[in-house]
Amino acid sequence: MVRIVCPHCHAPLAAAELEQATIAGQLSLLCPECSAVLVSEHAEPEYHSLEEHFAESRVVHA
Ligand SMILES: [Zn+2]
Repeated sequence: MVRIVCPHCHAPLAAAELEQATIAGQLSLLCPECSAVLVSEHAEPEYHSLEEHFAESRVVHA
């Protein structure tokens, strides 16, 4: 069985223990302990940067 250690809270996790969530249309795996995103399928750097840019804009205008 594949085991993953969360880089954020260092909890040892089996792949089956990870929580699945769809974020921005992408299936991601979250740490059930601290909800950090561990794996995101089809990570595209440009698209991610755009998402971060929009997130910042929302904070500024809120
Ligand atoms: Zn964690």
